[in-house]
Amino acid sequence: MTAILHRQPRQSLPVAVGGDGPYVIDSNGKRYLDASGGAAVSCLGHSHKAVVEAIKAQLDQLPYAHTGFFANRPSEELGEHLVARAPGDLSKVYFVSGGSEANETAMKLARQYFYEKGEPQRRHFIARRQSYHGNTLGALSIGGNPGRRAVYEPILLPANHVSPCFAYREKPAAESEAAYAQRLADELDAKIRELGPETVIGFVAETVVGATLGAVEPVPGYLKHIREVCDRHGVLLILDEIMSGMGRTGHLFACEEDGIAPDILTCAKGLGAGYQPVGACLLSGAIHDTIVGGSGAFQHGFTYIGHATACAGALEVQRTIEREGLLDRVRHQGALLRQGLEERFGNHPHVGDIRGRGLFIGVELVEDRATKQPFDPSHRLFARIKAQAMDHGLMCYPNGGTVDGQAGDHVLLAPPFIIGEQQVQEILDRLEGAVQGALHEIG
Ligand code: PLP
Repeated sequence: MTAILHRQPRQSLPVAVGGDGPYVIDSNGKRYLDASGGAAVSCLGHSHKAVVEAIKAQLDQLPYAHTGFFANRPSEELGEHLVARAPGDLSKVYFVSGGSEANETAMKLARQYFYEKGEPQRRHFIARRQSYHGNTLGALSIGGNPGRRAVYEPILLPANHVSPCFAYREKPAAESEAAYAQRLADELDAKIRELGPETVIGFVAETVVGATLGAVEPVPGYLKHIREVCDRHGVLLILDEIMSGMGRTGHLFACEEDGIAPDILTCAKGLGAGYQPVGACLLSGAIHDTIVGGSGAFQHGFTYIGHATACAGALEVQRTIEREGLLDRVRHQGALLRQGLEERFGNHPHVGDIRGRGLFIGVELVEDRATKQPFDPSHRLFARIKAQAMDHGLMCYPNGGTVDGQAGDHVLLAPPFIIGEQQVQEILDRLEGAVQGALHEIG
């Protein structure tokens, strides 16, 4: 019996009672190696002393004070830490409690910016198919994940979607990456013209696509072209780095690798590393100044914005990443894990693609490697892999193939930045066992 409405109410889950570095321990003492950081959250593992101490110290001093009455030091310091490292003109921050809230905030900031600027007719967002931006109604409206949208479709905002940048499935072999990037930028340009450039607020995309596709990175030049298209029409570029940001790709902000900066950038999961629920929306000085110099206030707010204890935890997470040189470690361990995956699965008859950046890696499973034909979705191969992995003492983040065959089942790996070489081998061994076990089940 349980009083909780669980995510999977018909499934009985182990009870997590402890953490030890990259391991989660259940009430029977079984240890699970966290190869996905939950959902790309726990980048410092589950028992980082400095972060726990920083949170305790803040609780002793001041747990929370409403930001309608007071500023607080942890949020000021965390804000300074982030903007000092952020690309482009991202010079202000708004702290919230998670990813969906960060994207809702981004949408409303962008809308109010144009309202204050004297362009109130701007009302459309454009995002991409096969994307996920959160589960609140605004964020779900821009998201392009048919499964997550289906029940709520009649109550969502009107959506405008263009193609994702998904070279493995959508770039013909004969087309160069450069031509593919240009074609996608032209598609966005055409969509903006179709809606009427003067009515479009922003284009929203995940820098590296997380849960929906499994660590799909943009081809070189794609984001530069997209930036140009947005600038051409005065449309804001909003990058969702809720999963891919905060060091996961080996760069603090994933878009640094693409050499561009958005007007608004959202991040969450790795920001507080699971020690506190916290997300952030970074915005350009131009957006800030237009709103503050206009009506004077952002028409928005949640009870827990700029939460002192959440920000104190996140500040220590971010300082730890820098102090311990973890971005270098992400690149190093990421290369090692990637190499191990290539060795184990590179010639596997049912592995179609291994992809990603840093410690953000996807493995796509297919029925037929040559044709890229996905497995029949009714097998729910991804769910079988997850269950097998848990039996093998491994947490990974598999997701389903789409019914329309636009993607196969995939496994997302996003282990803590602190994993050692021994644990990289453990991930490979356990994952191999889980994948073989799941494939065996479906015959
Ligand atoms: N955006 C992306 C890219 C995500 O992966 C997620 C969560 O998985 C979200 C937004 C929503 O974040 P949250 O679940 O913290 O609301």
